[in-house]
Amino acid sequence: MSIIKRCKQLFISDAMALLAAIAVGSMIFIINSILDVEVAPTLLYITLVFMSANIFSIPVFLTVAASCIAFLTFNFIVDAGYRDEKLIAGFVRCLIALTTITLLALRSKKSSESLRRKEAFFMGAQKLSRTGSIGFIIDKDETVSWSAESARIFEYPVDLTPTVALIKDRTHPDDLAIFDSVLERAARQEWHIEVEHRLVMADGRIKHVHMIANPLFNHHGRVEYVGAVKDVTAARQAEEALFHSQAKLAHVTRVTSMGELAASIAHEINQPLAAVITSGESCKRWINRPEPDLEEARRSLDRIIQNSCRASEVIACIRALSRQSDVQRKTEVFDDIVSDSLNLMQHEISSHQARLSLVAGAPGACVKGDRVQLQQVIINLIINACQAMANVHDRARLLRISTSVQDNEAVLEVADSGTGIAQDILATLFDPFFTTKHNGLGMGLAICRSIIEFHGGRIWVTSTVGVGTRFVFAIPLTTASDDQ
Ligand code: ADP
Repeated sequence: MSIIKRCKQLFISDAMALLAAIAVGSMIFIINSILDVEVAPTLLYITLVFMSANIFSIPVFLTVAASCIAFLTFNFIVDAGYRDEKLIAGFVRCLIALTTITLLALRSKKSSESLRRKEAFFMGAQKLSRTGSIGFIIDKDETVSWSAESARIFEYPVDLTPTVALIKDRTHPDDLAIFDSVLERAARQEWHIEVEHRLVMADGRIKHVHMIANPLFNHHGRVEYVGAVKDVTAARQAEEALFHSQAKLAHVTRVTSMGELAASIAHEINQPLAAVITSGESCKRWINRPEPDLEEARRSLDRIIQNSCRASEVIACIRALSRQSDVQRKTEVFDDIVSDSLNLMQHEISSHQARLSLVAGAPGACVKGDRVQLQQVIINLIINACQAMANVHDRARLLRISTSVQDNEAVLEVADSGTGIAQDILATLFDPFFTTKHNGLGMGLAICRSIIEFHGGRIWVTSTVGVGTRFVFAIPLTTASDDQ
């Protein structure tokens, strides 16, 4: 409805403007007829053509220009100028001038209209993609310019002249170093500047922006950086939400596998506790002798301490695995993560009558990551390996676990002599909810993959049906200096 109204309004205003222009043209014609001058009316027509090019739409402008040419010609005929050679030459000159001016004005009008259209497209695209343009010159005046969308991203009034100080005011205090680095890089005239940092709005909201800029060298030797700034807050928030849900899912599956391992875990705690009781009793006997053997009693006490420590380590490990805590990235000794995981799995492995061979081949190698999550991956691979060997009766049940360092990566290999996996399902193994077990959830390997990828690594599997399966993951090594 409003569009129809607007069209009607445009039509009425165009028609009025056309009438006004023709009226002015007629006036020029009358003046020309009365005063009988040769060039001045042409100048008036040219002025009228120029004015209408600026004010009217192309059809109205063309009508006005055609009317001017018609008036000029009509005037020439009425004055019987064709009888005089000089007048004919003058008329032709005026006609050529007016026509040329009309064509030039038409061309410039068309290009300015196409520029306006492009600007409208550009502004629409900027708004939709939340991307603004930005330009800055880092000299003593520190000139900044930006598009309306950039002003909206920084939440400043669109008509406010941007300055470096205004942008700095919006920068998150923890990201001021990034902001300063942009100025330094621009002062060094670096070819490509690309940064991502946070902004703090007046009401305390945090925004994430991604900025790229390249230099444009102008004639006065000044370097202007031009580029784009994109509001990536929604993407960052979505990534964070996904990260949290993945961490929650990992926690749920961890607790589920802990439930499955309850009997084995109870055994892992019971074993040192039983040893504590036995050593306590023998300590009592060594002391109660008519002649107490203090050396033996001391040894029994050492065993009590050792086993108590082991029980408390197992409990600490279980607590860490079942606690829902934020993901932490710390420098960890790779082999320690593996041996800690095995601490919980000894009984599970022996209850499946599997023989464990362990090669700790990455002594001192460190990785940066979440200890609990990496343990979860290792435990999951060991549980799967034990379950795959449960139905193997014709050969030894072998579980080979080895660590190594290869190409700057810490590598863990878990190989079993279980049933193996058919080649056609190998590719789907890491898909969520893929399971071949009647009570399986099918999330274990999917979570293992997301954890390993979160640690910047990769996980893969090779298998031969009837021989066994080998899962391998590799994550980047870290050095102590990476921690700073
Ligand atoms: P779930 O254990 O709940 O089935 P996983 O994602 O841990 O979920 O495993 C998916 C599937 O991959 C298993 O159902 C099994 O078919 C297969 N699988 C995993 N590890 C092994 C293995 N070591 N040997 C044979 N098959 C395996």
